[in-house]
Amino acid sequence: MRFSHGRGRLCSTAVTAETAVTAETAETAETTGNAPSPAPVTLLVAGGDVVTMNPAREVLVGGAVAVAGDVIAAVGSSTELAGRHPEAEMIDATGCIVTPGMVNAHQHLTGDPLIRSCIPDLLPPGASIFEWSVPAHGAHTGDDDELSAVLSSVENLANGVTTVVEAGTVANPHRAAAGMRRAGIRGTMGVWGWDIEEGPFTAPAAETLDRQREMVDSFSDGGLIDGWVTLVGHDLASDELLAGAADLARDRGTGLTMHMSPTSSDPERYLARTGRRPLAHLDALGVLGPHLLVAHGVWLDDDEVELVLSTSTAIAYCPWAYLRLGQGVAGQGRHAEIVERGGRVALGCDASNAGDTSDILRTAALAAGLARDTRVDPERFGAHTAFELATIAGAAAIGMDDRIGSLEPGKQADMVVHDTSSIGWAPRGETVLHLVWGTDGRSVRDVLVAGRLVISDGACATVDIASLRAEATAAQQSLLERAGLEIPHAWPHVPSA
Ligand SMILES: [Zn+2]
Repeated sequence: MRFSHGRGRLCSTAVTAETAVTAETAETAETTGNAPSPAPVTLLVAGGDVVTMNPAREVLVGGAVAVAGDVIAAVGSSTELAGRHPEAEMIDATGCIVTPGMVNAHQHLTGDPLIRSCIPDLLPPGASIFEWSVPAHGAHTGDDDELSAVLSSVENLANGVTTVVEAGTVANPHRAAAGMRRAGIRGTMGVWGWDIEEGPFTAPAAETLDRQREMVDSFSDGGLIDGWVTLVGHDLASDELLAGAADLARDRGTGLTMHMSPTSSDPERYLARTGRRPLAHLDALGVLGPHLLVAHGVWLDDDEVELVLSTSTAIAYCPWAYLRLGQGVAGQGRHAEIVERGGRVALGCDASNAGDTSDILRTAALAAGLARDTRVDPERFGAHTAFELATIAGAAAIGMDDRIGSLEPGKQADMVVHDTSSIGWAPRGETVLHLVWGTDGRSVRDVLVAGRLVISDGACATVDIASLRAEATAAQQSLLERAGLEIPHAWPHVPSA
């Protein structure tokens, strides 16, 4: 981070006509109350090229974002905003690119961060979940859940992700939420809900719904964490639980998320049990709708795609996980088509053994690459569409575009400063092409969530990383022993001395 007071470190970047108009608009909003901002402007992120993701998709060259408390007060020219707010602290983003914080719509904050990249990749379908992830979840202590959530949250933040949708914590969701708070990330929290016969914390539908209700209600304070109804999904829920979960989400005005159809397994099971494919069955139960975020939705047929579109059901698309697990996205995925037909799609990074890294820029590049290559069509679904999914469209898919996803007055001050001083940026290319195709989370320098600086000059400002690393290393060994897991090496690891 480049942190200074006043205007001393501002560059004298020329203000384009386009920028000036936007600045005037922003300042008008600031002063007329169209975007009320009762708190004084305390911080300027100034001098960078601001990728606003506003409806016109303006990129303000040498622009600035003024922050008042936790919200964006104005977006405009650096010179004008610095003159208007001389006492504000300043993050000098000269030469940098400033973007909205990115959205990761499917992230397992607990379960396998402590055994990241450990589960062998040459396993039959389902084995990684039931032979590895489930025992690991089962052995987790409350300390493990909180530590895992800190680890995953910090990694997400360091890569410019400011909002995560947690995919379901089994045992200690409140500890996982505490981990999110320690890191300072925004997101949703949910407890793993299922009512099958065996498994950790499985319970009859009514009891499972009670636990879900308690979770949702305990995160209704308007803070950084929203409580979501969170089912495991797949074919691991009764019709009663599925319908009750949707009713609960609608009743509380919150989201519902569950896994469905990353492979052919869910369609096969639903057809055998109900005579319908999964989303057709969910539709018959009244489960589909704008409140629902389906994780994956890779194996959909034509009718299911139409149902996704007609019900405004959202999908969290995690392409790295499908490639890592060999699930068939290149042949089966319909996500690009759903995006182009106006559907709600966000990007996700899934789990620490399914995609492994939590980097939405890397995911955006893959989403665009798959869309283009699988259709052998270089004229559709480029970097700009992918970056929309990473920001404003992703925010819309998780129902938060009124708060996040773009840099506009009145929105939450979630933003990322991308450093362009490394050789990978020399010479600078087209702004969005370079962001998506030419870099990834490695360029992230500073990150703000709700106006709070959580990553500063590439370092975590909220958590001591050396201590976190030591804690995680010790916890991994203990967890593996308790879970009865041993990580095999495919190649012999031999002592070198
Ligand atoms: Zn998942």
